[in-house]
Amino acid sequence: MYKVVIGLEVHCELKSNSKNFSGAANQYSSDPNTHVATVDLGLPGILPVINEEAVRKSLMIALAMNCEIPSYLIFDRKNYFYPDLPKGYQITQMHHPVGTNGYVMINVDGEDKKVLIHDTHLEEDTASLDHFGNFSLIDYNRCGVPLLETVTEPCLHSAKEAIAFLEALRSIFLYTDTSDARSDMGQMRCDVNVSLMEENAKELGTKVEMKNINSFNNVKLAIEYEIKRQTEILEQGGKILQETRRFDTEDMCTYSMRSKVDAIDYKYFIEPNIPPVKITSKWLEQIKKEIPKLQYERIQEYMTEYGLSRYDATILVKEKSTAEYFEKALQEGGDPKLVANWITSIILGHINKYEISMEEIFVTPKMLIDLIQMVSDGKISSKQGKEVLYQALQEEKEPIKIVEESGMKQIGDDNEILKLCNEVLEEQPQAIEQYKKGRTNILDFLVGQVMKKTKGQANPATTRTTMKEEIERR
Ligand code: ADP
Ligand code: MG
Repeated sequence: MYKVVIGLEVHCELKSNSKNFSGAANQYSSDPNTHVATVDLGLPGILPVINEEAVRKSLMIALAMNCEIPSYLIFDRKNYFYPDLPKGYQITQMHHPVGTNGYVMINVDGEDKKVLIHDTHLEEDTASLDHFGNFSLIDYNRCGVPLLETVTEPCLHSAKEAIAFLEALRSIFLYTDTSDARSDMGQMRCDVNVSLMEENAKELGTKVEMKNINSFNNVKLAIEYEIKRQTEILEQGGKILQETRRFDTEDMCTYSMRSKVDAIDYKYFIEPNIPPVKITSKWLEQIKKEIPKLQYERIQEYMTEYGLSRYDATILVKEKSTAEYFEKALQEGGDPKLVANWITSIILGHINKYEISMEEIFVTPKMLIDLIQMVSDGKISSKQGKEVLYQALQEEKEPIKIVEESGMKQIGDDNEILKLCNEVLEEQPQAIEQYKKGRTNILDFLVGQVMKKTKGQANPATTRTTMKEEIERR
């Protein structure tokens, strides 16, 4: 058994009106090659200008990841030639990135873990290439889009931890509204480094890098495949070659692309056309204030302050809008566990079914609390309450109105329920016989009959106990 060591380099496109160093729009969903400025094409004599919004968003992410922030940002040139990079160099950050030495908390199988962040740096995306048989097409719309690269230390030890980190990182982007982080649209892509080492070895093993994997599931598959491949080589006494491999989604395995290029091959030097960007503490304070409470913190709070299970807390914070809805409902006086239950069991089902967001639903937190109150007060049964909520969501009608208009009420009176139970038992003599013979689950059927008679208005718990007592008395 070898110890698995994984380090990730995650690229994420930032949201902004314009590109990182030019005024062209940052919108690559439009027709190809419609948002391209001279800077993006690297035409001679054209100077780049840094996008303040992209810097602000990068700083926000760096702060959210608990990074150290330098007092000046400096940009560097990374030289290499490729058709997707017409300038012949990428503007990136080598020595003074937006953030260093940070960490992101994850939880895997109930255990907390600090994922160490080596650095996060602002750079520009390349153009996108589409390959067809013997020719390729290129779209420069993506060329120059602000790209934030986050590099972890080699501190992850399983595919599960890697995925948990990627999910945590994506949620930071979504909560801070700095990127849509959609991996299906290539907005979030990951280079995965994997190595193996003897359990008590002092040095890390030789790593293999897999570039540009764009779905979390493929990250998982690529890691699992690499662990298997490297284990086999080591077990046969072989050596791992330091190289870049490509994960092939059709064959589900990795192929060698090239032996690793060292940093020195890129001939980095300070980008002379972009002056250092001063980061004042005032600006940082302002950005800090704009960072909302993040997923991890909210999960802790929901568990310790509201007594929710980790499972429910995790569901509620998955989308920021759901967490905000939940918290607003609590401000309206809702009981945390009840509110959590109504949201996870009904409202989330509704928004998933119709592929809408929490912000689009008609039922406000206040309406939900009023409905829960009607159930707690015994005005309507919880079964009725659920139906009212479904109807309110579907028909966009206030729960209180639905209850009023339908004349819904709950029959909770013991004598009335007793009368109903006896009525049903008289109608179903054979059910009593069967019950006596041991088919006790026929009780469900009998309770159902009372519900039918009362159109669901009978209090189910009272009906059940009364019905049981009545049968057994006979
Ligand atoms: P390079 O100089 O080859 O780019 P870096 O030290 O900059 O390597 O690390 C790049 C990425 O590879 C980081 O995410 C880091 O955590 C990861 N990494 C470094 N060494 C290893 C290793 N032995 N096993 C797994 N991942 C590693
Ligand atoms: Mg590196």
